[in-house]
Amino acid sequence: MRRWNGWGDSDTHYPLHATAIRFLKERVGPGTPPKDAAWPDVLASVPPSRLPAHRLVSIDPAERLRHARGQSLPDWLALRAGRVGLFPDGVAYPAGEGEVRALLRYAVEAGVRLIPYGGGTSVVGHIQPLPGDAPVLTVDLARLNRLLRFDESSHLATFGAGIAGPDLEAQLRARGCTLGHYPQSFEYSTLGGWIATLSSGQQSLGYGRIERLFAGGRLETPAGTLVMPPFPASAAGPDLRDLVLGSEGRLGILTEATVRASRLPEREDFHAVFFHSWEDGQAGAREIIQAGLPLSMLRLSTAPETETTLALAGHERLIAALEQLLSVRGVGAGKVMLLLAFSGRNDLVKAARKAALGIARRHGGVHAGRVFGSQWRKSRFRTPYLRNTLWEMGYAIDTLETATDWADVPALVAAIGHALCAGLEAGGERVHVFTHLSHLYPYGSSIYTTYLYRLAAEPDETLRRWQVLKAAASQAIQSHGATITHQHGVGIDHLPYLPAEKGALGMQVMRAIAKELDPAGIMNPGKLFL
Ligand SMILES: Cc1cc2nc3c(=O)[nH]c(=O)nc-3n(C[C@H](O)[C@H](O)[C@H](O)COP(=O)(O)OP(=O)(O)OC[C@H]3O[C@@H](n4cnc5c(N)ncnc54)[C@H](O)[C@@H]3O)c2cc1C
Repeated sequence: MRRWNGWGDSDTHYPLHATAIRFLKERVGPGTPPKDAAWPDVLASVPPSRLPAHRLVSIDPAERLRHARGQSLPDWLALRAGRVGLFPDGVAYPAGEGEVRALLRYAVEAGVRLIPYGGGTSVVGHIQPLPGDAPVLTVDLARLNRLLRFDESSHLATFGAGIAGPDLEAQLRARGCTLGHYPQSFEYSTLGGWIATLSSGQQSLGYGRIERLFAGGRLETPAGTLVMPPFPASAAGPDLRDLVLGSEGRLGILTEATVRASRLPEREDFHAVFFHSWEDGQAGAREIIQAGLPLSMLRLSTAPETETTLALAGHERLIAALEQLLSVRGVGAGKVMLLLAFSGRNDLVKAARKAALGIARRHGGVHAGRVFGSQWRKSRFRTPYLRNTLWEMGYAIDTLETATDWADVPALVAAIGHALCAGLEAGGERVHVFTHLSHLYPYGSSIYTTYLYRLAAEPDETLRRWQVLKAAASQAIQSHGATITHQHGVGIDHLPYLPAEKGALGMQVMRAIAKELDPAGIMNPGKLFL
């Protein structure tokens, strides 16, 4: 069963071994396990529903609690401390477009606010109810989960938008295809959520971000149905798919989406290369990406992330052998790790691997083979379970991300690191910060930073620490003119930073579009923009 106040299935655990625990204590100090609120107590805090009765709406308190929050750190804090505050007044699980339209009519007539809900894996506050007099209905799209059409010759697959990653991939794999879209939240996040948040999968370099994969679909809005046919390409004016991509539930409910699948790769190899320094690693990775080789992933960790990854990885014997190999080749302290994935036809994979490893070698890179890369691949959807373990040991962990051009990458990585490391100095607390370049482009890169600090005795103080850190890092990002988010979206956490990025006219255009499709303003108000 899915955890109600943490990540993932309650039977899956990610224990840390003694070396990893020692490493964390050295970095930020010993953690004190928190006293989390119990399910019955939080359930008892769910207030009576304000919704008028409807045959499709459940007002069951357990359903309402399970849909109250996503996966951001403030969400975790609210759930773990039992201070959720606001709950949806009801949850509906429509089984088709007709039921979605019925719910939209009901909401308009009864003055109900709607929150579309995919997998609930949002990390920026997309799906929580906000204060207001109008009742809130969460529309969980889990029942829109079927493969509706598959065009074998074009590799176009149309799914119900509520389908989750594993089901979608299983359907495509049974037909010799893959979408290749693997956000780390793959286990639970959904096709509709990926589109509505402009998500990026770990192998976006080869398969594309969701905007390349999303061919068309149907959006049910209070003003009617917006149909986006899946043309291979079109010059017929502005592309309406761009309205839906990143719309965060503000314009309507995506009921079905057609995606561009790829033939399953003949071969898929993950490799690791270690460089002497961050500068060498960046130069090597940049040259590889700018060579236009058919890779499906490049991911470059800074020295602190490389050290942390190796310290927390487990597999002590494997890591010791790796360290020995690297030290023989003169790669020691300050080393950085580049993960590369090659996917596709056998001959192309071989040629791309040879070319990429050749470039890496010219920058001093030492190829550590396939074992480490394969281990990373195997555990890539298990890593989020570490959040549960750390929390229970007394540590909060969160991530943030941005993207900028290559010329600014080194300075921005340093600025974010500095902002976070220094963020809690006044209170005498340390923050452990590590970063990787997660999605590389010929013209720039995304930057993905993880930070870890100790939980305070009081949840309010833990939240205050998060607010200080988040603001400091966001200001560093903004002062560099970088985007406030490369893949997580805006929600409520990034909302204050959007006007600087879009400009006054840009914000006006977005509001005007929302007004046209949702005149009464019932669709997820308060998220993305005010
Ligand atoms: C551990 C972890 C790892 C993550 N890794 C990644 C990653 O690698 N890459 C990445 O891009 N993101 C990542 N995320 C963030 C998150 O998974 C993505 O934002 C994801 O796309 C959200 O999908 P969801 O189905 O869970 O949507 P939800 O969280 O349910 O909703 C997100 C937003 O989309 C809207 N929405 C959802 N479905 C629809 C629909 N059918 N119609 C209209 N609006 C809809 C909601 O109203 C809401 O505003 C991660 C999150 C976690 C917790």
